Amino acid sequence: MSGATSDAPRRLAELEFNHPMISAFLDLDPGRFATGSARTTEINSLLDQAQQRLHAQPLDHRDRVSLGQDLQRVGSYLTTELDASGTHGVAVYCSGREALFEAIRLPHQVASDLVIEPIPVLEPLLPAPVPARVCVTLINRRDARFFIPADESGLAEQAFAQQDEHDRVRGQHRQGGRSEANYERSIEADVDAHLRRAAEQLFRLVRLHRCDRLVLGGPHEVVIRFINQLHPELRAIVDERELALDVGTSSVVEVMDALSPLQKRWHEMAQWQALQQLLSGLEGRQGIATGISETLAALGRRQVASLVLGPHMDAEGSVCPRCEQLYTAEHAGGCEADGSELQQLHGLRSAMIRSAIRQDADVVVLQDFADRPEIAAVAGVGAILRY
Ligand SMILES: [Zn+2]
Repeated sequence: MSGATSDAPRRLAELEFNHPMISAFLDLDPGRFATGSARTTEINSLLDQAQQRLHAQPLDHRDRVSLGQDLQRVGSYLTTELDASGTHGVAVYCSGREALFEAIRLPHQVASDLVIEPIPVLEPLLPAPVPARVCVTLINRRDARFFIPADESGLAEQAFAQQDEHDRVRGQHRQGGRSEANYERSIEADVDAHLRRAAEQLFRLVRLHRCDRLVLGGPHEVVIRFINQLHPELRAIVDERELALDVGTSSVVEVMDALSPLQKRWHEMAQWQALQQLLSGLEGRQGIATGISETLAALGRRQVASLVLGPHMDAEGSVCPRCEQLYTAEHAGGCEADGSELQQLHGLRSAMIRSAIRQDADVVVLQDFADRPEIAAVAGVGAILRY
C-alpha cells in the first residue's frame, strides 16, 4: 500500500479506462472505527450497497462479471489485508479488466464510499491545503531549530549548524576586564551574529526544500530581530502568526500541533480568494469561467489554472471517448469536435477533477463555505483561467 504522495492523483488521472472501475474509500477515523467489528460492519454495508448498485446498472455481461470479482477483491483487501494502523482513511482503485489494483493511505479522514464509474474518483487524494510546503523555525538568543517538510504532510527537524566554539554566544563565564556597557554591547553583537548565521542556513534550507511559507516561533523580541536578518525572499513568505512554543523543549509533534490552526486558516483563505476571483468574473472581469457549461469548455481548451467547486456540486453528463471533451446532460448529439458518440457519466464532478489534474490545474473545493450564497451565484462551479 502506498502513501498519498503527490504523484498518485496524476498517475491515476492519466490512465485510460474503457470499462467501469471501482473507486472505494474507507473511513478509518480511530474515534469512530477503533474496533475491528465496527470497521467490518462499515465495510459490509459498503459492499452491500455496491452490489445493489451493480445489479441496477446497465452493463454488458463481461463488465458485470468482472466488477463482481472486483468487489470481492476490494472486500477481501479491506477486511483481511489492510493494515489500518496510523492512517485516517484508505482509497482503493480496482479494475480486473484494466489490470489495476491500487490502495493508497490517506493522511486525512475520508467519507466511506464506493463508486462504479469509468472515471476514477480522485477528489479524496487531492493534496493538503495550500501552502503545501511549510518550514517552521524556532529561534532564541542562543539556539535555532528548523523543521522542514517531510513525507505524508509531516515535518522533520534539520540540525542547526552550530557556530565554532570561538563564535559562541558568550555567557556568564566570560572573562572580566571590560566595562559593563562594553560587555553588554559585545553580548548583543554575538546574538546578532547567531541570528545572522541562522538566517543564512534557513535561506539555504528554504531554497533546497522549496518551501512556500515560513512560520517562526520563540521569544517575540528575538523573532523580530531575526526577521530583520532574513533575506527579502524569506521575509516575503513569513506568516504573520508566531508559534508560542519553547525553543529548547518542543517536539516535532508539538510543532505540528501548533501549526494545525494556521493550516486551517490558510486553507479557508485560499478558498475565499478563489471564490472572490470567480465572483469578479460575474462583474465582467476576464480570465474566469463560471457555471458548468463555461467550466467544461475551459477544461476542454486546457485553459484552467484552478478548478473551483462547491462541496456538493455534481451533475450528470457525458464524455467524448476520443477527445475527452465533457458535456452537460442537456447536450444533444455527438462530440462537437469530432462527432464521436458520447459516453454517459453519472457524475461530471469526478470527470472535471480528473481533467483538471491532467492539465496540472489546482482543484479548490469550497468546503468551508458550503452554505454561502456566493457559491450559488456561480452555480457551484467555475475556473480561474491561465493567462
Ligand atoms: Zn470528441
